[in-house]
Amino acid sequence: MFWPKLNQHKISQRVFSALGNNANYRTENILGLPATYLDDQIFYDDAPFLKDAPFLSSMIANPNHIGCHTLLAEGEPMFKGTQDIERELIRICACEILGAEPEQYDGYVASGGTEANIEAMWIYRNMYITEYGATLDEIAIVCSEDTHYSIHKASDLLSIPVIVAEVDKEHRNILLPPLEKRLLAAKTKGIKYFIGVANMATTMFGSVDDPDQFASLFSTLKLNFRLHADGAYGGFIYPFTNPSNNLSFKNPHISSISLDAHKMLQAPYGTGIFLARKNLMSYVQTDEASYVKGTDYTLCGSRSGANAICTWMILHTYGSSGWMVKIHDLNDKTASLCARLDEMNIRYFRNPFINIVTIKSTYITPQLASKYFLVPDNHTQQPEWYKLIMMPHVKQGILDNFINELHHQQYAS
Ligand SMILES: *Cc1c(COP(=O)(O)O)cnc(C)c1O
Repeated sequence: MFWPKLNQHKISQRVFSALGNNANYRTENILGLPATYLDDQIFYDDAPFLKDAPFLSSMIANPNHIGCHTLLAEGEPMFKGTQDIERELIRICACEILGAEPEQYDGYVASGGTEANIEAMWIYRNMYITEYGATLDEIAIVCSEDTHYSIHKASDLLSIPVIVAEVDKEHRNILLPPLEKRLLAAKTKGIKYFIGVANMATTMFGSVDDPDQFASLFSTLKLNFRLHADGAYGGFIYPFTNPSNNLSFKNPHISSISLDAHKMLQAPYGTGIFLARKNLMSYVQTDEASYVKGTDYTLCGSRSGANAICTWMILHTYGSSGWMVKIHDLNDKTASLCARLDEMNIRYFRNPFINIVTIKSTYITPQLASKYFLVPDNHTQQPEWYKLIMMPHVKQGILDNFINELHHQQYAS
């Protein structure tokens, strides 16, 4: 895994040179587009700091990255400069972080993990319809009960059901015997085509599914399946803390992966990343998008190039080794917190490669939860768990205060 760390000057040069290779609304004869730079009453382009602000300058120039730029060299030519940066970003995520072979992937910067997950489900649904003549009532999604709700949105939008796999309530791993029963019942009902979702860390617990377990269960039952990995939370964490993991493109069972740059990578909202093996995007090609050069393969349509640029900038500010250090620091801090919880005999769940700690609600008063903004597993009933996430803003002093209060509370009760 390698990508370089670049200094601010180099990063700035690269972004401004890419912007220079885009068509310029201010200086060129652009008559045919329903698009322009950001409103210059609000975003004036002559502010002196802009020459040192590549991201803000990209925002103002407002390049549209509509479409999927790994597919054809000749996409929308207006914005080819910054689309090159997106292609580079997708390459780093697919090949360097997630083990894809060169040129064997496609991908784009989506609006978030939700869109990336829906895109994946949409691809597999259409693939089953096109290649196998499947009908909607023969296709189902399979995922754990801890899976993000965006998968349920996909199910609703695409009119295919979800088969929910029960998890062990303490260890959050998928229980295979009940899942096997559910799959056999689905088969009896006529479902023949399955879309499995393996979590590269769930949002509530940071638990990680084993895709090989899914694959061997589907194979044993002789069921047709494809696997998507949801790395919206863990995609910029888990490959760094657990490099030999089986949730990458090195695993032949995994066909697509979603990531979010607007969580751990601290990019602005509106920055998800969808990645798939080659020859899958065509199942969601919208031929009717005839005014877009190369047509469209994404769910969102028009989207800002600034999100891709910014994510590229973040990755190159750290370089692969700098990012590794940052993630390991957060994970080590999480481990130290867990050691303190162990000393106090407080029960919690944590995957050792993820910076989420989910504590049994019996140890947490509602006052403590609200003081530290701990998130409950549900807001309607009595929570069973509260989670805490070691994000970059979490200071040791605040953790110490939290632990002290937890300690006193233990004594008092
Ligand atoms: C956050 C998250 C999503 C959805 O991402 P958005 O960026 O909110 O659309 C999907 N899956 C998991 C595991 C997540 O943590």
